[in-house]
Amino acid sequence: MNNNWDYDQCPLCGSSKRASSSRCWSCYKAWCNDIPGKFWEKVQKTDSCWLWLGAKSKTGYGSFGGPDGTILAHRFAWILANGPVPDGMCILHRCDNPPCVRNDSNGHLFLGSQQDNVSDCIEKNRHSTPPRLKGDLHPHAVLNATLVRLIRAEAATGVRRTDIARMLGVDKTTINRVVNRQTWTHII
Ligand SMILES: [Zn+2]
Ligand SMILES: [Zn+2]
Repeated sequence: MNNNWDYDQCPLCGSSKRASSSRCWSCYKAWCNDIPGKFWEKVQKTDSCWLWLGAKSKTGYGSFGGPDGTILAHRFAWILANGPVPDGMCILHRCDNPPCVRNDSNGHLFLGSQQDNVSDCIEKNRHSTPPRLKGDLHPHAVLNATLVRLIRAEAATGVRRTDIARMLGVDKTTINRVVNRQTWTHII
């Protein structure tokens, strides 16, 4: 095993980390796993709409800095509940309230085609968020795009896949598939 990297201290927990990484593995994983928490702390739930309190576009749609860059907040909320948005589809509001991110079973968000609501799609394109969150942040997904990139970067520098699997608490087969690009093929 190639093990001649430089190490220094993780700024978050003080444990040892590779000098080229911003934080240690466990802090990285915690950060990735806390993305839904980071999202919901910016939401105020009322009896009807759940209002996004974070950044908004001129037209009132919320935007959220997710693992793959900025994404529309209501789109992200739908992904958290339902998984990836199919290619070419939009997430629309039943309530016609752009900052609303209500995604529960009584939710105000639904999947529609471009024809159903042109403005939502225009908004989506304005944010240049192509439908690339395939597989990402699905409730059942163990990994996300950020972790996939990290896994590939670590494997490329010679970290054993067994070690990566143990550190992330996932099966070695999962790591192999990611590194061999049998899964998460849409992530560069
Ligand atoms: Zn740390
Ligand atoms: Zn609503």
